Amino acid sequence: LVDTSYNRIKEVDDQIQAFLTLNEENAQVQAKELDTDADKSKRLFGIPNGMKDNIMTKNLRTTAGSQMLKNFDEPLFNATVVEKLNEEKAVIIGKLNMDEFAMGSSNEKSSFQTTRNPWNTDYVPGGSSGGPAAAVASGQIKFALGSDTGGSIRQPAAFCGVVGMKPTYGLVSRFGLVAFASSMDQIGPITNTVEDNARVLEVIAGSDKMDMTTVNKEVPAYTEKLADGIKGLKIAVPKEYLGEGVAPEVKNAVMDALKVYESLGATWEEVSLPHSKYAVAAYYLLSSAEGSTALARYDGVRYGERSKNADNMIDMYKLSRSEGFGEEVKRRIMLGSITLSAGYHDTHFQKAQKVRTLIKRDFEDIFENYDVIIGPTTPTPAFKLGEKTENPLTMYMNDVLTIPVNLAGVPGISLPCGFSEEGLPLGLQIIGKHFDESTVYRAAHAYE
Ligand code: GLN
Repeated sequence: LVDTSYNRIKEVDDQIQAFLTLNEENAQVQAKELDTDADKSKRLFGIPNGMKDNIMTKNLRTTAGSQMLKNFDEPLFNATVVEKLNEEKAVIIGKLNMDEFAMGSSNEKSSFQTTRNPWNTDYVPGGSSGGPAAAVASGQIKFALGSDTGGSIRQPAAFCGVVGMKPTYGLVSRFGLVAFASSMDQIGPITNTVEDNARVLEVIAGSDKMDMTTVNKEVPAYTEKLADGIKGLKIAVPKEYLGEGVAPEVKNAVMDALKVYESLGATWEEVSLPHSKYAVAAYYLLSSAEGSTALARYDGVRYGERSKNADNMIDMYKLSRSEGFGEEVKRRIMLGSITLSAGYHDTHFQKAQKVRTLIKRDFEDIFENYDVIIGPTTPTPAFKLGEKTENPLTMYMNDVLTIPVNLAGVPGISLPCGFSEEGLPLGLQIIGKHFDESTVYRAAHAYE
């Protein structure tokens, strides 16, 4: 399996550009050891996988897509999710490209390379976990872990025609994940099938004493309930998710999917998430505020590249950050710093927090009467490289259907749901109650 993975990488990754760093020597050694291992009972025995490059891997370069960390070749520890994969004998093939510090929706904001959409290399793979989604979609690895703060697992999964799960906030440990917005970041699996996805989540989920935001609950056996069917499942379809800005072909694909659900014994009704129209604005204020704080540590002293062009300490800080961060990251740092400063804190930051509470309540209200929410993952299929790089707002609007889920902390999955006229994959999004990944997976599996 490991050989097949590296062969496939050699065959296609020149065009796809998904990998930033390969782990070939170590992976081969590990594979040889596994060959002679009598105990093949481990849950991910020998399965080749890749990590988004913001997930810490001991002694394997971890850059978060940034020049700031381009020489971070020897991280001292593994993220908790990596430790859990190691315990189950999965084999890490390499590290995958991403928008710098997970800020972006197209992979064009990586400071190293731009990953291509495997279905058509003129198009973006989505982001920020574009490398992970493209690597799985092009058969280079069996699964990848990504991170999702505002859609970064689900949106690239939709664009690349694979399955991506953003778990409930607090289900998966963030220890060893390079922080973007700590109140929303979650790690989750990207796979070819819903079953694979559930299998990987079973391994990486669970409380962790290194991340106090993880919840102490037993991890359910998601895979055991997959085939139980969805008779009687109550589906809510928010009208905002099929409204203005959503492409007709995307709408049609979702309506077709709802017919499949009806035929399987589920019912659906139109509902409203009235505050979702404020979600993008609230998200970009809150995530930038948290992001600017998280990135304060990269000063060229404790963390990150140090500029060689400074001759005093203040310039050293300034130049290290000016040279180390890309344009989009600087934009977020500025937005976040303004949002948190005196005079704007009440009018912007606090207000956005209040909007977040209202959005969370919208979801709670719906989940009093329904089991899942279904809609598209993105308003349009993948866009062309370069199409949205000029205007950040058009890029941000691409996240309008994924962001509310992160603000509310609930789980959401994207799975393939047909193709656009141009032959690009479309994504169906299924959103569940807090910690009810079981129902989300069951509903996804029934449609798949
Ligand atoms: N595209 C969104 C952003 O740029 C979401 C990113 C993410 O989920 N990490 O912030």
